[in-house]
Amino acid sequence: MVRTHRENRSRFHKVKCPDCENEQMIFEKASSVVDCVVCGRVLAEPSGGKALIKADILGSFE
Ligand SMILES: [Zn+2]
Repeated sequence: MVRTHRENRSRFHKVKCPDCENEQMIFEKASSVVDCVVCGRVLAEPSGGKALIKADILGSFE
């Protein structure tokens, strides 16, 4: 059995604010509400485990 396939263990999402297009990083398991640093729009809300992302996700990083 070949084990070259790695699990996708992303920990951060790079998102773009739908309102002002500011780009910022959001922790995948954010435990509190994440606001856009520019306009204050809510970009992510905690939902038990993984945060609920309310912005455009551009990419994910470990
Ligand atoms: Zn914004």
